[in-house]
Amino acid sequence: MKKPAIVLILILFILSNLLAQVPEIPDPALNDIAMTTWCFGRLPNGQTYQGPIIIFNPVITAQVGPYLTEFFKFHEYGHIVLGHIQSRYYLSNPYNYLWVSNIQELEADTYSVTVLIKKNQVECVRQAFMWFNGVQPFKSSLMHPAGKERAINIFNTAARLGVQLK
Ligand SMILES: [Zn+2]
Repeated sequence: MKKPAIVLILILFILSNLLAQVPEIPDPALNDIAMTTWCFGRLPNGQTYQGPIIIFNPVITAQVGPYLTEFFKFHEYGHIVLGHIQSRYYLSNPYNYLWVSNIQELEADTYSVTVLIKKNQVECVRQAFMWFNGVQPFKSSLMHPAGKERAINIFNTAARLGVQLK
């Protein structure tokens, strides 16, 4: 095997382990469908943990259904994989999302679209596209940047990967 292939496999292995270790914590008080924050010591189940965690509002995920939930989950994983999440953002406020830039939001969407299409879960991507193109049943910090801009990015990313959403 050539060296680049080994390095690539190693990176994928490390990434998949990293992601396998990201706890996903339900939080009905969350004012959004999902976000990534930093755990500084202990998970709700008492387990010792330092690192990024994904928290999600189980009421909202039930409302929007499994496809959109999957899209937003991989959006959050995108923030982690792309190195957007740093512990210092969350020192004083675990719900802080002001660090996020428009570009990072679009990058996390692109990551989610790419992963879901590779997993052959086009319906998740299609529903996310419709979601950002239309009316959202809840107000979300995820709405910045504008929904339309995110819809266009989702559409274009899917098209680059050979999937037509319309
Ligand atoms: Zn985001």
